[in-house]
Amino acid sequence: LASASASTVRQVKLDRESELRIEVANETPLRLRVLNGNAEIFGTELPPEIWLTFPPRLKFAVFTWYGATIELDGTTETDYTADETPMVSYVNVHAILEGRRRRARASASKDSDTSQGPRVIVVGPTDSGKSTLSRMLLSWAAKQGWKPTFVDLDIGQGSITAPGCIAATPIEMPIDPVEGIPLEMPLVYFFGHATPSNNVDLYRVFVKELAQTLEKQYTGNAESRAAGMVINTMGWIEGVGYELLLHAIDTFSANVVLVLGQEKLFSLLRDVLKNKPNVDVVKLQKSGGVVSRNTKVRQKARSYRIREYFYGLVNDLSPHSYVANFNDLHVYRIGGGPQAPRSALPIGADPVANPLRLVLVTSDQVQELIHLVLAVSYAEEPEQITSSNVAGFIYVTEVDMGRKQIKYLSPSAGVLPGKYLVAGTLSWIET
Ligand code: ADP
Repeated sequence: LASASASTVRQVKLDRESELRIEVANETPLRLRVLNGNAEIFGTELPPEIWLTFPPRLKFAVFTWYGATIELDGTTETDYTADETPMVSYVNVHAILEGRRRRARASASKDSDTSQGPRVIVVGPTDSGKSTLSRMLLSWAAKQGWKPTFVDLDIGQGSITAPGCIAATPIEMPIDPVEGIPLEMPLVYFFGHATPSNNVDLYRVFVKELAQTLEKQYTGNAESRAAGMVINTMGWIEGVGYELLLHAIDTFSANVVLVLGQEKLFSLLRDVLKNKPNVDVVKLQKSGGVVSRNTKVRQKARSYRIREYFYGLVNDLSPHSYVANFNDLHVYRIGGGPQAPRSALPIGADPVANPLRLVLVTSDQVQELIHLVLAVSYAEEPEQITSSNVAGFIYVTEVDMGRKQIKYLSPSAGVLPGKYLVAGTLSWIET
């Protein structure tokens, strides 16, 4: 294990089917290029000889099928080569999915089953490489001309947009190894918390909304229907987390379940799904390169992700700052509080919290919004908030209780694209 500290240019020769695993330094970027041979990062082939710049803290692997020489410029936290990887098994999965996509496209019938390409769901504990495998499968498919749909149900990190959301987007090109997934056409539902346990019912509701919306889009688009989807999930696989996995498999009608890095979860899912003949449950090995992140690191990654939404990956965006009178805003919270007072219920009944109840944040509660990320809903009426996707986010930088005003950052200039704002517990302290 070579922990490089020299910042001179150096070369690394990779044998076939091996990879260079890199953690970029915490403060400084790393430059890298392919000198000869072919190499890819998580399914996306790198251009020959062109220097690419990777931002601090990024963790990735440069993999080669037939051998390559890589040149590095800059310091790394760690970098080492590994010749034991599960890549062959991953690309075999891709080949099977590719066959199914072709069969779906060739099927002359409008029959919804035969014209439906693979709906892959990737499950496993945290840090088993789920997001990475999703990304590879999507990039390999895009390289072959498909536009598969990426569905991200992982509210803890979020590869499509800010954390706290579930989202979907078509992947039209292999995913850029530096920039990640383009933010252009995502369909985003704002859950508002980093874990589903804050409001499990609401999480289910949004998962269902997202699935239904995609289903509608597929009806009018045979090509994307044949390309299918890759669904990334949360690492919470016990208890309610497990229930939510089953709910997602069912709601999206997943027909390929890829289980990463856990025998127990694999055998549970295989047993529970064995009476569904068209669902394949496949066990895959976790890569030794996956970097484990503790709660603190995860939390930090969330903050960086929110920061990235407003400021860009390398400070290339400048958000606009606005002041608004609180009375002109309509900020809602979802859930919490009893549905009806005890006095209005039959004797003996407990007042249950309604998880979908909409609660308007009143002007004397504005202080609670400081440093929160608020979503701008497309809802036209408050009742539509729990069934509407969102246009984007604002960030509350200051609250002035005296003037009843808030100051916020918005990534774009002009009026907000929706009238209703949604608050959760997603917050961020600008540093
Ligand atoms: P999960 O989605 O299961 O939580 P990820 O796919 O996000 O796990 O992987 C965790 C971290 O490990 C990410 O930062 C990812 O870039 C990194 N990683 C995954 N595979 C490799 C690899 N082969 N070499 C180096 N880093 C990797």
